[in-house]
Amino acid sequence: MSRLLDNMNPQQREGVLSVDGPVLLLAGAGSGKTRVITHRIAYLIEERGVAPDSILAVTFTNKAAKEMGERVDHLIGHSSLARPLISTFHSLCVRVLRRDIEALRVNGVGLTKSFAIYDETDQQAIVKTALKRLGFDDKQLKPRVALGRISWAKNHMIDPQEYFLASTNPLEERIAHIFKIYRDELAKNNAMDFDDLLLETVRLLKTSKETREKYQKRYRYLLIDEYQDTNRPQYELMRLLSGEHGNVCVVGDEDQSIYSWRGADIKNILDFEKDFSDTKIIRLEQNYRSTQVILEGAGSVVRNNTQRKGKELFTTREGGSLIGFYEAPDGENEALFVADRIQTYIREVTSAGETPKCAVLYRTNAQSRLVEESLRRYNIQYHMVGGFSFYDRAEVKDMLSYLKLVQNPHDSIALNRVVNSPPRGIGKTTMETLERIALTTGMSSWDAIERVAAEQLLPARAITALTGFRRLILDARAMLGPGFGDALAADAGLTTEEPTAEFVGEEENASASDANEDTSFDTSFNFGFDFGPSEERSTIAPENSQIEDADTSFDFSFEPTTPAAPEEAPQPSVAFNPFEASNNAAQKRSSSDKFAELRAMAAPVVDSTAPLATSARIDGFRAPGDPATLPELIKFLNDRSGYLKILEAEGTPEAFSRMENLKELANAAQDAQERGETLSDFLDHAALVSDADGINMDARVTLMTLHAAKGLEFPLVFLCGMEEGLFPSSRTMQDPAGLEEERRLCYVGMTRAMDTLVMTRARYRRRYGSDMPDATVASRFLEEVPSRLVEDLGSPADRPSFRADTGYGGYGGAYGKKWPRKGGDDFGGERHYSYEDEDQSGAAPPPKPKSNFGLQFGASKKAVATGA
Ligand code: ATP
Ligand code: MG
Repeated sequence: MSRLLDNMNPQQREGVLSVDGPVLLLAGAGSGKTRVITHRIAYLIEERGVAPDSILAVTFTNKAAKEMGERVDHLIGHSSLARPLISTFHSLCVRVLRRDIEALRVNGVGLTKSFAIYDETDQQAIVKTALKRLGFDDKQLKPRVALGRISWAKNHMIDPQEYFLASTNPLEERIAHIFKIYRDELAKNNAMDFDDLLLETVRLLKTSKETREKYQKRYRYLLIDEYQDTNRPQYELMRLLSGEHGNVCVVGDEDQSIYSWRGADIKNILDFEKDFSDTKIIRLEQNYRSTQVILEGAGSVVRNNTQRKGKELFTTREGGSLIGFYEAPDGENEALFVADRIQTYIREVTSAGETPKCAVLYRTNAQSRLVEESLRRYNIQYHMVGGFSFYDRAEVKDMLSYLKLVQNPHDSIALNRVVNSPPRGIGKTTMETLERIALTTGMSSWDAIERVAAEQLLPARAITALTGFRRLILDARAMLGPGFGDALAADAGLTTEEPTAEFVGEEENASASDANEDTSFDTSFNFGFDFGPSEERSTIAPENSQIEDADTSFDFSFEPTTPAAPEEAPQPSVAFNPFEASNNAAQKRSSSDKFAELRAMAAPVVDSTAPLATSARIDGFRAPGDPATLPELIKFLNDRSGYLKILEAEGTPEAFSRMENLKELANAAQDAQERGETLSDFLDHAALVSDADGINMDARVTLMTLHAAKGLEFPLVFLCGMEEGLFPSSRTMQDPAGLEEERRLCYVGMTRAMDTLVMTRARYRRRYGSDMPDATVASRFLEEVPSRLVEDLGSPADRPSFRADTGYGGYGGAYGKKWPRKGGDDFGGERHYSYEDEDQSGAAPPPKPKSNFGLQFGASKKAVATGA
C-alpha cells in the first residue's frame, strides 16, 4: 500500500483513491479534508503517474495555496519542474484572461491582455467621480453601498439599463446611472474589478469553444477546497473546466459556509450531485484537531441551526481543559485579560521547551485596536492579519500606480492618483479640464493631456507640469525596450472622437478627481475575494439607516424587481417591460422621461483602450540596451518622480517609514525579477495578494477576524467580543438566515482551537467613539454552550492593575467600582452564561434566553434561569 495512505482512516483513503469521476467530500471541521486534498494530489502524481501540470487545485487564499504546494512537495519528496497548479479562483482567472481574453474582442472592441485590475480603492475612486459628475451627494449614497449593488447586479448578469428599468425608487435609479458610468470607465481604462475577473473568465469559456477545450484538455484533474464558500460564477467555472472528464473532487463543510453574503451558495453542493451523475459522496467523522470539550462545545452551538444536514464528529482526544469564559467590565479590560493570559501561556509553553502558537479572533477588524494596544503594553509581539496591509499603504499604492501607468498609460485611475503625487503644481482646475475632455470625447486622461498640450488649452505652467509627467512615464516605458515605446507610438493616433463640446471654461458637473487630496490615510480594503469580507462596515442607505458597527457584509437586502437573471449571456434590455415595475411613487415621472434617460444610458461605450504590448520579459541579466529590470524601473520612478526626494526632505519618522516601504516594494520587485516575472505579473501579484496572505504561520500570536481564520488551527484560541449586536452582528439579528450564518462563523472560530478555547465579552463597549460605552448583552452563542463544558475565568481580583491602567471610572460608576466576582457582587454574582445544565444528553437545545440579561446587574443568571 502506498505510504501516502499511512495514517489515514478508511474514509480518508477512499477520498485519496477515488481519482476518477466526481467526488463530493463533505465533513466537519478538522476531519482532514484539506489533508485528503494534498494527499490526493501527491497520490495522482506518485502512484498514478499523472503529469503534475494537468492537476488544478483551487483554494480560498493565496496563503492556503502556497501551503498546499509546500505540503505536496513535502509528500512527493521533491519539487519537480512541472508542478500542479495550486491557485485561488481569482489568480486562476487572471492567468486565463492574460492569455486568452482577446478571444472576446469583437471588431477591435473589448479588453486587451494588458488589462488593469482595480481594487476597492480604485473602484471607490470611480464611484466618487461618478457621484460628483451626476451631482449626487455621497453622504446620501455611500460609494461602498453603490459598489455593493453594482457587484450584486453584475453577479446576476444585470446590466445598467436593466437595473434602471427595474428600479423602483430614486436611489436605485441613481445607482443605475453610477453603474453605467462605472462600467464604461472600466472599459475605457482597459480595467476589470474582481467580480469581472470571474465573470469574464466564465464568459470567455462559454463563448470560445476553442479556449474552453484548450483548458479542459490541459487540466484533467480538478480539486476544490472550502467548496461550501464558492459562489455561482465559481461553480460555473468549475463546471466549464471539468468538461467531459468530470474528474472533480470538491471538499467542504456546510456548517462552515460563511460567505453567503458574497454570493456563496449552498445550491452548489446540492447541484453538484445533479450536475455530475455518479458522484461519489464521502463523509469523514473523526476530528483530529480538537479536544472533546471543544468539539462538543462547538457542536452544541451549531446544532441550533436548522439549515444543516446534521453530522456528528468524534475525537479520540478525550477530555481537555474546559472552555474558558471571561466577562470583562469593558473592552479595554477584555483586551488586557487576553494579553495577560497570552503572557502566561507563552511563558509556560516556552519553559516546557515548546513553541507557543495562539490566535485572537474577532468579528470585526475594528476590535483589533484594543487587543493590539494591550499586547503592546505587555510587550508581546504579534502578527496581525488584515487591517492595513502593505499593499494598501499610500506610498506603495502610488508607486504601483506609476507602474500601472508604465504598463498601461490609459489607466485613468492610476493617472489621477499620481499625476500630482508628489505635488507638481497640477491643481483642481487642470484636473477638471482633463476630466471634462475625457468625458466629452471618450478619450483617456492620458490622451487628454496630449490634446491639452497640442491645443494650448491650459496655462503654460499647467501644460509644462502635465507634459513633464507624461514624459516621465514615456521614459520609463522606453526603459522596458522597444515593445513598449512602439505600442504607445502606434497608439498615439488612436484617440477616438473629436470633442463634441467646448470644454474649456464650461460649467458642468464634472469635477476634479481626488488626486490632490491627501491619500496618506487611504485605507482601502482588498475587495473581498479570497480572505474574507471587508471588515469595514458597509454603509447603510439613508432609507434604512441604522447604526451598526459589527457589520462586515454588504447590504444586499435591496433587490430590484428584475426578471430572472439570464442563464447565459446578458440579454438585451428590451426583454423587460418597464411599465410592469412602475407602480411605485418613485416612478410617477412620465415614462417618456425615463425612456430619455434610458436612451442616454444606452449610448455606446467608447473603447479608447490601446492595444498595448504586454510587458516585455525582463530578464535578470541585462546588457546595455536591454530592457530594464523591475527594481531598476522602480528606482527610476522613485528618483525621477521626485517621490523619494520629498520624503527625504520631510525627514519625519513617518516619512522615513514610507521610504522603507518603497524600499520593501523594490525588494518585492527583486524577488519577482528572480522568479522571472514580468511587470504585468508583478502588478497582478500585488493586486491579488489578500490580507489573509499576511498570515505568518510562525507567528506566536496571530490576530485576525473569524473569516480570515478559516482552515487554520492553533493550540490556544481566544474568541473576543461575544456580545449580541457584535457577534452575532446586529444586522443579522432580525434575519434567521443571517443569524445561522453568524452561528456557523462561531462554529468556525471555535473549531480553530486544538487544546484550549477561551471566549470573552465586555459588559460595556464603546461604540462610535461615544463618551459613554453602551451596556452589552451576552452573545446568544455563549448561551448555547452547555455550562458543564465551561470554566468561569472571571476572578480578576488578583489582577487589579488592569483597571489602574485603563483610566476608567468616569462615567457614572455603573460598574466601575469592583471587578466582577464569582459568588455575588454588584455584577450579578455567578455569571455562567448557560442557563441550563440540562443539555447533557446533547438532545434538544435549551430554549432561547431572554436576551436582556447583560443589563441586569443585580440578578444572577441562575436566578433568571430558575425563574427567581
Ligand atoms: P477545516 O474544516 O477546519 O478546514 P479540515 O477538515 O480541512 O479542517 P485538516 O486541516 O485537513 O482538516 O486536518 C486537521 C488536523 O488533523 C490537521 O492537523 C491534520 O494534520 C490532522 N489530521 C487529519 N487527518 C489525520 C489523520 N488521519 N491522522 C492524523 N492527523 C490527521
Ligand atoms: Mg481545511
